[in-house]
Amino acid sequence: MLKLIGVLFAVGAISILPVKVVNGRINEKNDCVMTYSFSKEIVNENEDETVENEYSFLSSPLSFWDGCGSTYDIATVYTPNGSEVEVLIDKRTMSQTDINNCNSNGNKKVPQATLIADSTNKYNCHSYAWYQQSTDNPYWMNDPSKYYTDGSYYRTYTPNINDRICYFDKSGNNLHSGIIIDKYSGVSSSVCGDADMYKVVSKWGAWGLYEHRGDQCPYTSSYGGDALSVRYYHRHNFQNSYSNTNTSQHIAYCICGESITENHNYTYSNKTVTGHTALCACGKREVQTHLWTMYTNPNWGGPYTYVECKACHFIKRLGDNEFVPVRPYLVKNNKETI
Ligand SMILES: [Zn+2]
Ligand SMILES: [Zn+2]
Ligand SMILES: [Zn+2]
Repeated sequence: MLKLIGVLFAVGAISILPVKVVNGRINEKNDCVMTYSFSKEIVNENEDETVENEYSFLSSPLSFWDGCGSTYDIATVYTPNGSEVEVLIDKRTMSQTDINNCNSNGNKKVPQATLIADSTNKYNCHSYAWYQQSTDNPYWMNDPSKYYTDGSYYRTYTPNINDRICYFDKSGNNLHSGIIIDKYSGVSSSVCGDADMYKVVSKWGAWGLYEHRGDQCPYTSSYGGDALSVRYYHRHNFQNSYSNTNTSQHIAYCICGESITENHNYTYSNKTVTGHTALCACGKREVQTHLWTMYTNPNWGGPYTYVECKACHFIKRLGDNEFVPVRPYLVKNNKETI
């Protein structure tokens, strides 16, 4: 028999919760309740009964949740430039029925959008866009602003594929983040900035992960949301294309057009006793002789001498009277140098 010892935050609680300040930001909407209306029946652990979690969804898939009253842990992730960002780990698990209902809610809310991954309370839009693009992402992120204020990303007005898009309300709150995956030609309708000129992938709160035209999501006024403008953020990735690939260095380009000149970044294959093949992502391919250095392993006894290639880490034992160049010496078996 189910013995109920508690029912946690029913939907009715929304009207009595005070305004909260979380991470210096006023949570005027009590989004956690709106996003996370949730009742949980807790059974006596001594009884052999299944714990039932029942989520009651969801007036809108807001992407802010302060974990109030819930079972969660706090963790830290880092921006590419090393700033700390607080994230939440929701320990609750949605049932398949909950997932189906949330998927359906999202599909009905924006019929033009395409669901590409199931609803889940584990990760939200900001976490997906800024931290990790994986459905295994375990973190819910409320405030991604460090990513675009610490220099990891910078604002651009001419976004490219893989740039981030953020949706702001009139008070300057970032309500939603996504990733640009395509561009459209034509003239913007200016519903939410020029968001309609881009195809976006984004997670809708605890609802599903969607591909959608930038303005076609629950956060814009067309679908009842509060977002009025968008901003775009870029981080250089100099692996888009290369030139000067036959010189000792290549020039590497970001999709935005910026470039750097840098040494080839080789990987090594075809290792033999004399050499290796070096291959760079730019296309430069070169058969090289090993660059020997002395190799010592304290667990290896015996009167032998080993050398290791500094580049490819190939190791070999020198044969009797075998000489190889080890700068600045020539090394011979039996650890002699000449
Ligand atoms: Zn760039
Ligand atoms: Zn290269
Ligand atoms: Zn080598």
